[in-house]
Amino acid sequence: MIKINEEISKFKTKIIIVTGGVMSGIGKGIVCSSIGMLLKTRGFKVDVMKADPYLHVDPGTMNPTEHGEIFVTEKVWTYEYGEVVSNIAELDQDFGNYERFMDINVHPSHNLTSGQIFMTVLNKERELRYAGKTVQMIPHVTDEIKRRIYQVIAEKEGETDFLLIEIGGTTGDIEGDLYLETARQLFREHGKEKMCLIHTTWIPYNAPVCEFKTKPTQHSISLLFSKGIFPDFVVCRSEKQVDKAALRKIALYSNLKEERIISNPNLDNIYRIPTLFEEQDFCMQILSHFNEQPRTNVRMIADQLKEWDETVDLIDNVEKTVVIGLGGKYFDHKDTYYSVREALMHAGVANKCKVIIKDLNVEKVTEETNLKEFDGILVPGGFGERGAEGKITLAERCIDEKIPYLGICYGMQLAVVAVARKLCGLEKANSIEVDPETPYPVISFVKGQEKIIRYGGTMRLGSYEAILKEGTIVRKCYNDEEVISERHRHRLEVNFDHLEVLQQELIFSGVCKQDENIVEFIELPQEKHPFFVGTQAHPEFKSRLRKPSPLYVGFIAEASKSSK
Ligand code: GLN
Repeated sequence: MIKINEEISKFKTKIIIVTGGVMSGIGKGIVCSSIGMLLKTRGFKVDVMKADPYLHVDPGTMNPTEHGEIFVTEKVWTYEYGEVVSNIAELDQDFGNYERFMDINVHPSHNLTSGQIFMTVLNKERELRYAGKTVQMIPHVTDEIKRRIYQVIAEKEGETDFLLIEIGGTTGDIEGDLYLETARQLFREHGKEKMCLIHTTWIPYNAPVCEFKTKPTQHSISLLFSKGIFPDFVVCRSEKQVDKAALRKIALYSNLKEERIISNPNLDNIYRIPTLFEEQDFCMQILSHFNEQPRTNVRMIADQLKEWDETVDLIDNVEKTVVIGLGGKYFDHKDTYYSVREALMHAGVANKCKVIIKDLNVEKVTEETNLKEFDGILVPGGFGERGAEGKITLAERCIDEKIPYLGICYGMQLAVVAVARKLCGLEKANSIEVDPETPYPVISFVKGQEKIIRYGGTMRLGSYEAILKEGTIVRKCYNDEEVISERHRHRLEVNFDHLEVLQQELIFSGVCKQDENIVEFIELPQEKHPFFVGTQAHPEFKSRLRKPSPLYVGFIAEASKSSK
């Protein structure tokens, strides 16, 4: 293994930096993901990092309506700073797209945040590790950012041909400057042979004058110039196809050949972006920048891309539709349930039907809410008292009306409450998260979670194996496998004190392999309900277009039986 700092110049991994200009939310993450996917089809091994300039140690403590989804990784990374230890597995939602497009599992240490960087630098200062020097943004903070990048390269030296690094935020943000400066230093140290910069920008369309406006992009490019970094490609996101004249102008301002300006108009399906890039030879141009040749032959590349396109076609071009009610409360941010929506769509593809997801605000759900239009109801993960009664009512209604139900994490916990109240006669049963005084706390804290001293990085996180019970719906969904593994993010669980009474009505179809006291899957007996299933896990985080989550596939298969 190469040693960080001493021999780093010897590393073979090439670095592709992706920055964003003009405004946020223009799909840098999808650009990164698509490039990674296309490089993979050429036989290269790819990996990805993201630098988030915010001061959080990880985004896990952010409100979902603030940040969108929190993605959970397979592994948990123990990050130590001074006396505090954080278990990091809660990442920026872009990691979901990286994993889905590139079909890789990313290690949580690949999401570095300014919070982590400053924490480490300050801690090192307290330990006198800077030998009495004045600790500064440059070089100490930028060195720490580089150390993190080099660490990723060193750990997987020989295994990664290309490391994509997305820099969160937009050029011009105060917080982002340190990362642009780090990029400049990397270019200075390793040169264009090992480095490439892709700048993603937004080209507004001025409808009254029927013109694309390149000025904001010109400004964002000159800002990069002023930081000492020069883009090798500019990806132009826009409402519709940008005309040649505008692209030419951007090429002129960015000192690039016209073919290096890639257009990226809005598409109705993000999975079509790799094909869009392919049509513009984007990936081959990146390879020629690095003086690399594809490692797979033309035929194999074409076959893989064709297969991808055919799967993507299945998303839109199917006749049968299935309507799923998504019983949540964080609808003010469109990305909060991103992976759940993706997993439902993947499961639709597997079942050759189009899943139409309708937001079902649980704060408004009552006994009277009309559920007739839904072929199935999914209650996703969540936190807190707000909307909890609505979720319990939804689960109760699904039991009564035999509507296929899938409860994810909180959705499972509140389904257990519904069963306890409705079928086991435990009146006022609840989760102690909702009612700490409940006479029947059927959902209570996982051991060790009772006293929350620190909120960030302390939940039960990452993947755990579960042992599935024979003959259950869940086991059938998982192809009759006995041991499966899914990712987690929670503090509470089914309370074993109420096990006996709950088991009279409910099947515990899976328990944690490591600790059989943790219930991972529940279901109602099939003779009582066709599909009333819940899991403590979040199977959506592992679902990919061509490797859909078995549980979601089973749910949609059942829901599609009743669909019109
Ligand atoms: N609030 C619940 C818990 O902490 C569920 C969490 C979730 O749905 N991710 O256990």
